[in-house]
Amino acid sequence: MHPSDGQGYSPSVPGSYSHQTPAKVPPHQSSGQYNYSGSQNVSQLNNYQGPGQTLNRPPVTPFSGSPVQQTGPVPQVLLPALQNSAAVSSAGSFPPGASPPVLSNWQYSQTPGSQPVGSQTSHLAHVTGTGSAQPPSSLSGNTNPPGSYQYAASPGGPPLQNSYMKPGSAPPPVTQPLTPLHPPARPPLGPPPVGGPPLIRPSTLVAGPPNTQSLLNSAANREGDAPSTASDGSVVQNSYDAIEGGGLMATPHPSPAPPNLKMNRSVGYSYPTLPPGYQNTSPPGAPGMQASALQYPDGSKHFHQPALGTNHLTASMGGLSLQQEGLRPVNLLQERNILPTTLLKAPVPNLHEDIQKLNCNPELFRCTLTNIPQTQALLNKAKLPLGLLLHPFKDLSQLPVVTSSTIVRCRSCRTYINPFVSFLDQRRWKCNLCYRVNDVPEEFMYNPVTRVYGEPHKRPEVQNATIEFMAPSEYMLRPPQPPVYLFVFDVSHNAIETGYLNTVCQTLLDNLDLLPGNTRTKIGFITFDSTIHFYSLQEGLSQPQMLIVSDIEDVFIPMPENLLVNLNENKELIQDLLRTLPQMFTKSLETQSALGPALQAAFKLMSPTGGRISVFQTQLPSVGMGALKSREEPNQRATAKDIHLTPSTDFYKKLALDCSGQQVAVDLFLLSGQYSDLASLGCISRYSAGSVYYYQSYHHKHNPVQVEKLQKELKRYLTRKIGFEAVMRIRCTKGLSIHTFHGNFFVRSTDLLSLPNVNPDAGYAVQMSVEESLTDMQVVSFQSALLYTSSKGERRIRVHTMCLPVVTTLSDVYLGADVQAITGLLANMAVDRSVSATLSDARDALVNAVIDSLSAYRSSVLSIQQPGLMAPNSLRLFPLYVLALLKQKAFQTGTNARLDERIFTMCQVKNQPLVYLMLMTHPSLYRVDNLTDEGALNINDRTIPQPPILQLSVEKLSRDGAYLMDAGSVMFLWIGKNCGQSFISQVLGVPNYGSVPQNMTHLPELETAESIRTIAFISWLREQRPFFPILYIVKDDSPLKSSFLQNMIEDRTESALSYYEFLLHIQQQVNK
Ligand SMILES: [Zn+2]
Repeated sequence: MHPSDGQGYSPSVPGSYSHQTPAKVPPHQSSGQYNYSGSQNVSQLNNYQGPGQTLNRPPVTPFSGSPVQQTGPVPQVLLPALQNSAAVSSAGSFPPGASPPVLSNWQYSQTPGSQPVGSQTSHLAHVTGTGSAQPPSSLSGNTNPPGSYQYAASPGGPPLQNSYMKPGSAPPPVTQPLTPLHPPARPPLGPPPVGGPPLIRPSTLVAGPPNTQSLLNSAANREGDAPSTASDGSVVQNSYDAIEGGGLMATPHPSPAPPNLKMNRSVGYSYPTLPPGYQNTSPPGAPGMQASALQYPDGSKHFHQPALGTNHLTASMGGLSLQQEGLRPVNLLQERNILPTTLLKAPVPNLHEDIQKLNCNPELFRCTLTNIPQTQALLNKAKLPLGLLLHPFKDLSQLPVVTSSTIVRCRSCRTYINPFVSFLDQRRWKCNLCYRVNDVPEEFMYNPVTRVYGEPHKRPEVQNATIEFMAPSEYMLRPPQPPVYLFVFDVSHNAIETGYLNTVCQTLLDNLDLLPGNTRTKIGFITFDSTIHFYSLQEGLSQPQMLIVSDIEDVFIPMPENLLVNLNENKELIQDLLRTLPQMFTKSLETQSALGPALQAAFKLMSPTGGRISVFQTQLPSVGMGALKSREEPNQRATAKDIHLTPSTDFYKKLALDCSGQQVAVDLFLLSGQYSDLASLGCISRYSAGSVYYYQSYHHKHNPVQVEKLQKELKRYLTRKIGFEAVMRIRCTKGLSIHTFHGNFFVRSTDLLSLPNVNPDAGYAVQMSVEESLTDMQVVSFQSALLYTSSKGERRIRVHTMCLPVVTTLSDVYLGADVQAITGLLANMAVDRSVSATLSDARDALVNAVIDSLSAYRSSVLSIQQPGLMAPNSLRLFPLYVLALLKQKAFQTGTNARLDERIFTMCQVKNQPLVYLMLMTHPSLYRVDNLTDEGALNINDRTIPQPPILQLSVEKLSRDGAYLMDAGSVMFLWIGKNCGQSFISQVLGVPNYGSVPQNMTHLPELETAESIRTIAFISWLREQRPFFPILYIVKDDSPLKSSFLQNMIEDRTESALSYYEFLLHIQQQVNK
């Protein structure tokens, strides 16, 4: 652990509170804001008396592993938000409770040693930025940067030119390529769910079904007009808007307090008094620029921009055969084997190969139609939804990172320069989104990769569709926030019963050093039952001190300065607390849950800095604000009507918006066996850009397999990359318009997504329309820009750009249809529809989407009318996937889905990247009793068998075999009754079928080839996703057999059609 150099969190501040030492009468407080008379306000600040004793709690007491031990009167803070911020700020820490987040006393720890190093990878090779060769500017404050390029260039190269210095601006720190925390996940297809009741006949809808889009998007932009934009979000909102660069300049940010002397480099110019307009362009006449302009090589002798002219963008003839295949009519009623035996890949846009090879990876950015219809009329005809699916913060193994004081963007629409712009000559580039012609800034003339001057089109920004910029100070509203993590634990009797606290505290202990962060990382803990418990972790205490607040109607923060503490400096106390917590409440009989007040307290504590709140809840909140009543009625599960998908209170949404305004995200871990109204609780995460985790019926003894799942997923959660105070904007070529967003965030200023936290496992979707026809355009582009603060305190911008061709005929639109993206977008739209209307409406709309598009194809594209149900090859899986959605837990109508489970699945639909959404919708089925090395992958000396994917039908099962069903968050290994003896003994490790244990959830690691292969395959599947699927081993008489069978999408269930019946239904409607 480093000393807190440059850190500023001096734990022993002169004048800091002495009341952390219990029993000691605090030094008089001048202002009288302290009131130590425990006797006067006993009800507010109580002493922890140990579980089970809820009465007569004396005032605050230190907790010492063994509860109780009251030692006298304790300080009480009446107005935590107001007091003493001066005292604390002198120490350079954040005075929690102080309102303006932009205090001048932020301290950086941006010392050279705190820069990320090593492990990071970049295809731009190692960086030898000038910055590293220079004395770190971080210590001195306003040092001008040595050179404007601090680029990730070739290793060992001489320092890059420093002749392009931009006067008056400090450069961002040395380029640091990003580190992938996890290998890129690339999970397979399709997933779970279960049958629903017979499809509702959409006959009434068919008469004049509005197209699917209008049907489904009524729930549109609800976030946008949230009544409670609450709190002071507006300031942040406008300012961020300006920074990321909307169309409009926002009002200047209120000028900040003068920087503290200790501030380091970026602080000096972190508060632009001018709106950050196009400050990046080198102002004409800038000295550095003129100087270098002299070196400008004459003419355009190096200028060659391969294949970027619009003339080269059209499809090459080579694509024709592929096209034909995509459009080949398939009679779905006849062709039974339409499911590919390997995972379905995204269609490749029909672009010239020189363009396509630069295009964005479909795992990051995908469009439902890879051929964009030229007009809205054409899109309407196709009856397919137009939209984008994004996984913008995905872990990447390779990510070019650029550090340059000049980030080149279009003057008009603020698009970042990208591979699909065109260079008119060396000095001018044309924006591919708005077509404005922009100047090439002088600095951009130099290519730090090749170290050649005069090749702007070879700059990494123009060679990579995915790139990250180190953002200069114009992109900051305040100095980058430190990583701050607050954990909020339910410690009611019910919670203790589940035993979750042991697992969580132990996992946290194990991963404490792996939390993303730096020397500024702060951490804190709150526990709650009917009261709220805070923990003072100030350095100097011999043990953590517990403070109890029992006034849950008007929550306040006692001792705000010691509740969020520097992780490194107080690690022992923190570890002490984590080791003790699980035992502290073991005798508690308190059954009430004051979740709402606990969240309010957490919000207050986090407001000054922003950060992440992780809340663990095990039941329905019962007291204080946000208390809820059970709304689940078991007999209603069976119908699609009147189920409670909407929140019963707006408390959680409002609080989430408050959090969002202060850059706080809330992640909810719900571990509950009973109904907990996730529809209401989930709002806290949805609008604050958090995540929801759900462990149904978690119990350490009764449901041990959940323990492992929680451990694994929590580890991923704790250690995965995190971005703070983020915003994301998606731009598209003029003529296209984005109108509805899906995911967890809050929409600010019409199209700016506010993401207090962004994590690498979150997906987003947007819907689009063609507002003006794209006449004369051969291609259009889409660009997402995610501006965030890394856990190292760097401001970064991750940009993805995708280019797609424009087409004028319906057949071309179908040709480019991406059936998975379409399914994913429809699922998102259907969730909105379920909430805004009814589940039945949503189901109807899904069915209509298939009917309408296949009808349009039949009537407008097929030249010869043939019997059967015809689909273009590109859409051959569409009916199957929609049927899978109808049988999915989110949309099914059977009796199987409990309400919270359904809501959770809906959360997943909205928040998961497409690849996982597909897997949970249409699982992958493999036969695994005969695995071979044929076609196997070889990864790090491990051989990973690649068995073919089978159709989801019992017809495909043989009693002689064993089959693995991978449904994303759960896996089933079904063992046939007559399964070969070798599999039973070599893989399951038991002598015969009869002795396979009933609740088997693990495969033994045996020394046999069969065991090694099987385990390698299952492990490989698991490693590719951020959650941990439980493996259930299922026999014929297993209670889980029905769950397994319900995922057999193609089969009939009590309440849902078989695939064939569904096709007949569709055909009937299409032929009407
Ligand atoms: Zn533009």
